[in-house]
Amino acid sequence: MSELAELVPYDEALSRYEPVIGLETHVELGTATKMFCGCPTAFGLEPNSAVCPVCLGLPGSLPVANRAAIEYTIRIGLALNCSIATWCRFARKNYFYPDMPKDFQISQYDEPLCTDGWLDVAVDGQIFRVGIERVHLEEDTGKSLHMGGATGRIHGADYSLVDYNRAGIPLVEVVTKPVAGTGSHAPVVARAYVTELRDLLRALQVSDVRMEEGSLRCDVNTSLAPRGASEWGTRTETKNVNSLRSVERAVRFEIERQAAVLDAGQQVVQETRHFHEDHGNTTPGRSKEEAQDYRYFPEPDLVPVAPDAQWVEQIRASLPELPAARLARLQSQWGLSDLDMSAISNAGALMLVESTVAAGAAPSDARKWWLGELARHANEAGIELSELAVTPAQVARVSELVKAGALNDKLARVVLEAILAGEGEPDAIVEARGLAVVSDDSALVQTVDAVIAANPDVVAKIRAGKTAAVGALLGDVMKATRGRADATRARELILQRLA
Ligand SMILES: [Zn+2]
Repeated sequence: MSELAELVPYDEALSRYEPVIGLETHVELGTATKMFCGCPTAFGLEPNSAVCPVCLGLPGSLPVANRAAIEYTIRIGLALNCSIATWCRFARKNYFYPDMPKDFQISQYDEPLCTDGWLDVAVDGQIFRVGIERVHLEEDTGKSLHMGGATGRIHGADYSLVDYNRAGIPLVEVVTKPVAGTGSHAPVVARAYVTELRDLLRALQVSDVRMEEGSLRCDVNTSLAPRGASEWGTRTETKNVNSLRSVERAVRFEIERQAAVLDAGQQVVQETRHFHEDHGNTTPGRSKEEAQDYRYFPEPDLVPVAPDAQWVEQIRASLPELPAARLARLQSQWGLSDLDMSAISNAGALMLVESTVAAGAAPSDARKWWLGELARHANEAGIELSELAVTPAQVARVSELVKAGALNDKLARVVLEAILAGEGEPDAIVEARGLAVVSDDSALVQTVDAVIAANPDVVAKIRAGKTAAVGALLGDVMKATRGRADATRARELILQRLA
């Protein structure tokens, strides 16, 4: 069946169909050694230097499970309100991949380490509870490099190289239950969930969770069913979703695409799809394998994992403050609304705002700059807030200059733009560009007097009691100073001169 070209506009799609989403997140654990051997996991080592008979799958070698990886997985499970298995096994997942030296992957199948938890996410001040189906442990594969072609893909390449350094790196997979009832919020809920999960993993110190480096990878499932239908629709699984923004865009695109397929009287194909950052669309990949295709069976070379109850309780007692608790604490310190806090959190700006406040800004100002002007710049550039070329200390300084009356909001925006353009520190920019607000009276009085002299009719109105006409004079003063006048002081002066 060929792909339909057209999409149904988002709001229209949602008026007739109800989405169900699901997320599968792979997290590279930050252990010092691999999952089943003692090879180092450090990034950027010489290709094929961090390998041994076990992770190369040489005959006769035997894996031994990494205790730290099991502990990290239990930390994640506990933080996600899961039950921790008292006894479980690893399983062999059989499939052929040239960069997988054993021709099977050691994973977990029907006996995951952690099951049945949840994570709450807030969107627009509303809480959505995302059920966690399972958290299991597995090993990563190696990496193929396709050389000589223009695209780096296998098509058109002259030859391929393989690096087994990655083979055997511990991965945790966090799988949600299907999330229904989110309606038009579905794309934002998906993004908020991954943001929340990322923050949680960072707080637990189990991974460096860098989506751009692949240590946090996300597959997004989406299905649509007609509103009021008793069954869910067929789902697609979108791969290659490598940023928070892409998670939102991928769900949104699939809703618009699947609505068009259903509108045309066709069936959504259950398949793996690939997300393309540049066009914001998805295209079909292979059709989805069923579990039986992998011929899972319990891994005979490893003993079962049976975490001691006392050990699990020790891990529980050692959990740090989790993001939800931190958010509640910061909210009470900052005095911001639920809506403000969920906006900050969903924009991935909590740390930025916190650092800006720590550098001296008022919480409401820090929120205003990060979620307003700076979010606009990040959006335009298609990057995350944290990737902007501005530091919390610089934002705090701009906010301080506004508070002191040295800048107004308009000038502050110019300064922020200059910082982003690499022009240096806020004070230097104000100095170099002559941006400071004119609030010293002698300069301002001259301008005010000139504007009064030039507008006798407006002055007459004000003198006759129409004080609203002051706005016209103030506008001229701002124009004459190219926006640099302290508006409050200028208004006072106008009224003083006409009194
Ligand atoms: Zn090894």
